[in-house]
Amino acid sequence: MSCTVERGSKEEALRTGLKEALTGRPPFRELAYELIDCSDELLPDLVATARKLKEQFKPGIVSYSRKVFIPLTNLCRDYCGYCTFRRDPGQPGAHTMTPNEVMEVVRAGERLGCTEALFSLGDKPELAFPEMRETLHHLGHNSTLQYLEAMCELVLRESNLLPHPNPGLLSAEWLHRLAAVTPSIGLMLETTNESLLARGAAHDNAPDKLPARRLRVIEEAGKQKIPFTTGLLIGIGESMQDRVDTLLAIRDLHARYGHIQEVIVQNFRAKPDIAMRDHAEPTHGEMLRTIAVARLLLPEVNIQAPPNLSASNYEEFIDAGINDWGGVSPLTPDFINPEKPWPHLRQLQMRSERKGSRLLQRLPVYPEFRSMAAARGGLLETKLLACSDDRGYARVAA
Ligand code: SF4
Repeated sequence: MSCTVERGSKEEALRTGLKEALTGRPPFRELAYELIDCSDELLPDLVATARKLKEQFKPGIVSYSRKVFIPLTNLCRDYCGYCTFRRDPGQPGAHTMTPNEVMEVVRAGERLGCTEALFSLGDKPELAFPEMRETLHHLGHNSTLQYLEAMCELVLRESNLLPHPNPGLLSAEWLHRLAAVTPSIGLMLETTNESLLARGAAHDNAPDKLPARRLRVIEEAGKQKIPFTTGLLIGIGESMQDRVDTLLAIRDLHARYGHIQEVIVQNFRAKPDIAMRDHAEPTHGEMLRTIAVARLLLPEVNIQAPPNLSASNYEEFIDAGINDWGGVSPLTPDFINPEKPWPHLRQLQMRSERKGSRLLQRLPVYPEFRSMAAARGGLLETKLLACSDDRGYARVAA
């Protein structure tokens, strides 16, 4: 009897918390811990609240970025247990793209109306591998970041696309340099749980995944007013509470610097060729709860979940409060999750509309952050104005 009463009063407190969230009072940490682990009975109320907040923030729309994926190099000095992208030199598939290869993909993307060149790459492979130092030397560069900077500048100068790099950890100087040739930069925080660097855990032998180091990069980007994409990777061994702590760490930085343009909620997927092949994947219910709590904690931040990692029922993420699908390519596969094809854009549009949301093509930098990026001036400003419409979304050919 008393258990039933306790459960009843807890549910009541959670429902009160949801009502308060709608009046501009996000849940405090302990309440968020409860909400992210809520019962199936409470889940409909949680997602309904998140959806209302999404509609207050971005009514009637969901955005995506039409992109090409450029895996500039898949060599990486880290060994994340869930990664299928990275290679050591000499392994089958190990590759660093040449400038010609980069521009071939970019040109094909231009023909398909893409507006983003997403650069993905391993973290500072030249520090671990002499082969990468030699490759960079042949390309005329001393470091992977220097090569990336040159490729972003090339794309900016010679194409209709805007670059957006995900290069791993960056110093203050490298943030400054890259921000001159790209409107936005990404670095997944993934989690604030340091214990995942322990032996056998997801970030064993991945020194660049130390949360404190990643938080420092995100903070420095804030100081430099760089529109920044970050997010969570869920299901890699962290707890539900860790997910809340990670969201709150991002929220704190955004409150101080106002530069977080997007928070991604990405789900771990098991693959046969990774160290974590037998690790359980997060359930659809976990995704809905994490997205919804992200929306409650960050009511006015763009929240994204990738549709290609959730197959048949991804449109329900709109119900849980996302307002963006991230980069979707009509051309290149998702090299990070190559076995998970992106949904065809027409299908994405239909499924978004079924959930009452018009699909809009955005640039890699979100409309509300366009002026922050354009403030850097020069070619970046000119390109941004040329690529965007009056509202800051992608200028799409009629
Ligand atoms: S997830 Fe990124 S940092 Fe980790 S091994 Fe893969 S490429 Fe390297």
